[in-house]
Amino acid sequence: MHRKKWGSLFLVLALVAVLALGGCQPAGESEPEVETREADVVVIGGGGAGLAAAVTAADHGAEVILLEKMPRLGGNTLISGCAYNAVDPERQSKQGIEDSIDLHFQHTYEGGDKKGDPELIRVLVENALDGLHWLESLGCEFKDEVYTVLGALWPRSHTNVKPLGTGYIEALENAARERGVEILLETKAEELVQEEDGRVTGVKAVDADGKEVIFKARKGVVLATGGFSANVEMRTKYNPRLTAEIPTTNHPGATGDGIVMAEKVGAEFVGMEYIQLLPTGDPETGSLAGWLAPGVDQMIYVNKEGKRFVAEDERRDVMTNALFEQPDALMYVVSDANSVWEVTSFGETEEQLVEMGKVQKADTLEELAEKINVPPENLVETVAKYNEAVENNHDPEFGKKLLGHKIETPPFYASPRVPTVHHTMGGVKIDTLARVISKDGNPIPGLYAAGEVTGGIHGTNRLGGNAIADIIVFGRIAGESAANSK
Ligand code: ADP
Repeated sequence: MHRKKWGSLFLVLALVAVLALGGCQPAGESEPEVETREADVVVIGGGGAGLAAAVTAADHGAEVILLEKMPRLGGNTLISGCAYNAVDPERQSKQGIEDSIDLHFQHTYEGGDKKGDPELIRVLVENALDGLHWLESLGCEFKDEVYTVLGALWPRSHTNVKPLGTGYIEALENAARERGVEILLETKAEELVQEEDGRVTGVKAVDADGKEVIFKARKGVVLATGGFSANVEMRTKYNPRLTAEIPTTNHPGATGDGIVMAEKVGAEFVGMEYIQLLPTGDPETGSLAGWLAPGVDQMIYVNKEGKRFVAEDERRDVMTNALFEQPDALMYVVSDANSVWEVTSFGETEEQLVEMGKVQKADTLEELAEKINVPPENLVETVAKYNEAVENNHDPEFGKKLLGHKIETPPFYASPRVPTVHHTMGGVKIDTLARVISKDGNPIPGLYAAGEVTGGIHGTNRLGGNAIADIIVFGRIAGESAANSK
């Protein structure tokens, strides 16, 4: 009896000891060591901002590792409409367009309801053209003509020769590889490594085999993880209206991982509630593809009643809010034969779009109205009124200013569009050197950020075409700052 009692006590003590020493591990085996890699600069995210940062850091002598969680590079940059805003006297003067850096500043600042940081906006508008020339030097080709992309407010949008954002990503990826940047796909950053003194010195990630790897950064970490439009939980936290029913233009990896990681190291955030929607989403996919994409001066929007309801050259938020007020929040983009691009910026031709049923085509407006099921007499009247506005260069109904040409040359086109979540303008606070600012107002040593993960540039409403300029300008700055970090 006595011996049995001692025996049980011994067993309990042994069990406690085993648990304290690490559970059920067989004796003699220690914890598997976590693999550690090291570089001067570790970039998280392989979209436009991350690649621009990686290339620039390498140009400043840094050994760079870039982590990308998806199986391919590109992020939202790759699937973007690729418009790049820059005041470009060389191109614009050929089209008789007057522009200035100050006007670009004013459009950006006021177009964002003066909620953007004027210092960051200055950096953006003053360096946009240099960023464009830098891309050209890396082999990225732009078309000669500039135009006004949706919500750009002025004809200073440049477009690539290649479709979507492929031109940017190809050129940047080639440049990164030529400079010896190590690109690791399917490698997801999970956490920033922060020392007791606050310095960020690395990244904990999970590699393609599901193994944890610690990437130590001798100089700096660049956060370039993009936005959170594809994370319904996160976006509804900041704007409860943006439920799962509203589609998004974004790639599935736009889940705001950088926001979560930055929060844990004490970063400050700005403008998280400013989430941009576009009125031009594909009703099935939310994508911006699937319609003939002329400049805003070459088309009108009509609702299911065949009536216009907003100036088509308005700010993106104004147009989307107006669309939410229309029956079923559905509209049609209507244009004519004069507004057909040979190939849209999404790489689609008129023929393909018509064949896929994404775009309806007809020889008369009446026929077009029948096809999209809107009252023909309304559509005819709407277009007549619009043409009168073009003729008088005055749109008394909606105040559209960019009145390019009449809609009068058959065939006519229409494609249905709905509101779609596009861009998260808020994010981590940075300064003009792309240093991440902490809640106490000081830069977090060793941590830099660029691109959609940052906030404070676009205010409440981003101008169309400003995002690509932003990611290139601040991506380059972040890369340089990280490479030069002590
Ligand atoms: P930006 O325009 O700011 O460059 P993108 O959306 O183009 O933004 O690119 C961001 C990239 O970051 C995407 O390719 C995305 O898959 C990647 N990314 C997001 N979260 C992580 C993460 N946790 N680890 C590694 N890559 C990430």
